[in-house]
This record gives sequence, C-alpha cells and structure tokens, in this order.
Amino acid sequence: MAATVPQSALDVMGICSLFVLMNRILSLTTIGALIDNAHNLRAYCNSCRHCVKLDLEALAARLGRDHGSMHVDLVPKLKCECGSKDIALILSTEATEGRGHV
Ligand SMILES: [Zn+2]
Repeated sequence: MAATVPQSALDVMGICSLFVLMNRILSLTTIGALIDNAHNLRAYCNSCRHCVKLDLEALAARLGRDHGSMHVDLVPKLKCECGSKDIALILSTEATEGRGHV
C-alpha cells in the first residue's frame, strides 16, 4: 500500500515537509552517533538495580565509533559487578539525564 502525504504536509512550493522532517530524524544506532548527538546511555542491572552511566568515549575507543549502540550490540559485552548479564539500557540526552526513577 502506497503511503499518502496529507495535503497539510506540503508547503507552498510543493516540497513535502515530511521529507524535511525525515532528514532531521536522528539515527542513534552507533556509539559515535550517540556521542555526536549528545546522548547518554545508562546500563541498569535488572538483578541488583545497579545503574551506571556508560563512558561512551571509552567504549568508542575500545569498540570503535561505528560499533552498534543497540541493546543487542552492547548488552552481550556488559556484565554487572553482581555477575548478572540481565541488563537494560536507558537512553537519555543531557536535558533528560538523571530524570525518572533511576
Ligand atoms: Zn547487578
């Protein structure tokens, strides 16, 4: 099924505003992209509730800036000090860092 663009998404020059918006969507799938776009990752242990802000610069130096930043990419390489590998990742920006319950 072809996607349709609502008329309100077209500006007076006929340029699709949705396309412009799509160009502004951040891709945060690599460690380098997180650093470049001022995002942070916290590792949260689901077993002991230990939570730590990951040092993305150190991870980039060790794994490479192009290394994936998704759960499937990073969690297999993480282990809590309690020994658990049941770890969640929490994404934040500088503006949202430290908010919430962790
Ligand atoms: Zn733990």
